[in-house]
Amino acid sequence: MEIKVNLATHLKEKPIDESKLGFGKIFTDHMLLMDYDIDTGWHNARIEPYDYLKIDPAAVCLHYGQEIFEGLKAYYGKDKGIYLFRVADNFKRLNASARRVCMPELDADFVIKALKKLILIEREWIPKTRGTSLYIRPTMIATEPFLGVRAATSYLFYIIIGPVGSYYPEGLNPVKIYVEDKYVRAVAGGTGEAKTGGNYAASLLAAAEAQKKGFTQVLWLDGCEKMWIEEVGAMNMFFVIDDEVITAPLTGSILGGITRDSVIKIVRDWGLKIREKSVSINDVLAAASNGELKEAFGTGTAAVISPVGQITYKDKDYIISNGKMGELSQKLYDEIVAIQYAEKEDPYGWTEKIG
Ligand SMILES: *Cc1c(COP(=O)(O)O)cnc(C)c1O
Repeated sequence: MEIKVNLATHLKEKPIDESKLGFGKIFTDHMLLMDYDIDTGWHNARIEPYDYLKIDPAAVCLHYGQEIFEGLKAYYGKDKGIYLFRVADNFKRLNASARRVCMPELDADFVIKALKKLILIEREWIPKTRGTSLYIRPTMIATEPFLGVRAATSYLFYIIIGPVGSYYPEGLNPVKIYVEDKYVRAVAGGTGEAKTGGNYAASLLAAAEAQKKGFTQVLWLDGCEKMWIEEVGAMNMFFVIDDEVITAPLTGSILGGITRDSVIKIVRDWGLKIREKSVSINDVLAAASNGELKEAFGTGTAAVISPVGQITYKDKDYIISNGKMGELSQKLYDEIVAIQYAEKEDPYGWTEKIG
C-alpha cells in the first residue's frame, strides 16, 4: 500500500519554551489515517493536515466504546538522531487489544513504516531537552453507523503526535497513592489487559474521589477479592520487599506494560531477584510496617519510573523509603532514560534510530 501525503499549507506555531509543554495538549501539523471496511480491508493510508474527524453520530465507537489506543514516544538523542523505543511491541499490543474488542488487526510493519514517515515530516516538532519527547498516540475507532450491539464493519485508524514535557519538571517526586477498596477497574476475563477506552472511563470516579482526598493516583486491587495488588492509574506496580523485586503477573486484568517488561529484563540482568507473583495488600502493608518494604514504584511510558512515597489504605498512611525516591527506582530510571536518549549503548535492541 502506498502512503499518500497531503502537506498542510498553513503550519502552526511551534512551542518555544520546552519547560512548559505539559502532556497531551499540543499536536503537530499532520496526522496519519487509514480506513477499513469488511470488503476491502485496510486501505487509503494517508498523511494529512491535522484536522477534526468527520464521523456519523451513530458511529459504533461513540455508543459502545469499540475503541483502542496505544502510547509511545520518539526521543531526540544525544547524537541529534531521532529514536523510537520498542515500537514493534506497541503495535503488537495494539493488535492484541484489537482482538479482544473484535477490531481488525493492522499490518504492524506497514504502520510502523508510515509512522516513521509522519515523524520525519514533523521532525522540527521534536523537543530537544532531555526528558521531553514526541508523544505518539495510535488510535482505532469503529465508524460504522449502526445502533446494534455487535462488532462494526468499518473502522478508522489514525495516529496523532505532539511534543510533551518532562513528566517531572522539578525532579522525581514520590507520589502518594490511595488504595481503592470500593471501586474496581477490571476483572479477570474482562478487558483490563486491552488498552481500550472503557477501562479508563471506569477509573475516573475513583481517581476523582482520591484526588479530592489529596492523592495523585489510585492503586487498584483485584476486582473479585479486593485483596491482590493490580496496578496504579496507567502504570504497572513494583515492590522491593527484602531483597526481592515483585510485580503482579499478567493474568488478564492487568495491562502488560512495555516499561514493566523492560524493568523485569534489566533487573534480571543486574542479577537481582525478580518475581512475577500476586502480592496481597495486607502483605505489602505488613512489609511496610516492619521495614521489609524497601521501595515501591510504578512504571509506564509517560513517567518511566514513578516512585511511591506513601500508600494509604482504609485511612491509614504507610510511608515508604522515608517518602524519598529509592535507590533501585533511581537506578532503573537512569538506565532506561539513558537507553531511550541514546546516551548509552542499548544491549537489548530496543531503540531504533529513524533519522
Ligand atoms: C499504558 C498502560 C500501562 C503502561 O504501559 P507502558 O507500555 O509501560 O506505557 C500500564 N497500565 C495501564 C492501565 C495502561 O493503560
